[in-house]
Amino acid sequence: MRHFLIAIDGPAGSGKSTVAKLVAERLGMNYLDTGAMYRAVALYLHSKNLSPSDDLSNELDHIDLCYKDGELYINGARVSEQIRSAQAGKLASDFAVNPAVRSRLTQLQRDICKDGKFVVEGRDIGTVVLPNAQVKIFLTASFDERVRRRLKELQEKGIHLTFEEIANQIRLRDEQDSKRSLAPMKPAEDALVIDTTGKNIDQVVEEICQIALRRMDCENNRC
Ligand code: C5P
Repeated sequence: MRHFLIAIDGPAGSGKSTVAKLVAERLGMNYLDTGAMYRAVALYLHSKNLSPSDDLSNELDHIDLCYKDGELYINGARVSEQIRSAQAGKLASDFAVNPAVRSRLTQLQRDICKDGKFVVEGRDIGTVVLPNAQVKIFLTASFDERVRRRLKELQEKGIHLTFEEIANQIRLRDEQDSKRSLAPMKPAEDALVIDTTGKNIDQVVEEICQIALRRMDCENNRC
């Protein structure tokens, strides 16, 4: 089989990046992080003093966003590390409401995935970007667990914020991402919702791989 798509959507802290990367590795598929694209574009537009309510079409026409050897570049500048800040996450969520930003990135994501096998993570992959993906997963976890995971992740990077500070960031992002009118974060009707609270990563990866392998088998045998 040459073309196979797994969409993994979910809110901040649901574990989707870790899980999506491991599923891609286990199944020998490519991995696409669409949140990274929103972060890179938002940082770039912000650096040009533009705001989410501006008409951004012209600026977006001159943006060259691409992955090379696993690193993300915007107009030739490598931004893989810069985009991981909390500020980039917030800016990404702010700019993600802009119709021109969404349309440009949705098209780019579809182009990247048009051939080959991809595990794609984001907020609207199963609903908007790849509605024909063979496997659709929506990962969730309780609010407290998501905050604890983010706290641990940041502590490991030497960034020390309080539980309340992270809770506020996540609450704001959840609200913005799920309430926007364009491509709001929500499970596709045919997505499998997996609550990862209290589950370890290996269990979740195993569960998704089994579903994907059954689906691949089915496609090969045309059942
Ligand atoms: O997943 P990550 O935290 O990197 O995403 C950053 C922000 O980008 C999200 O909060 C969301 O607003 C936006 N995003 C989106 N659609 C996607 C991926 C990310 O709107 N497919």
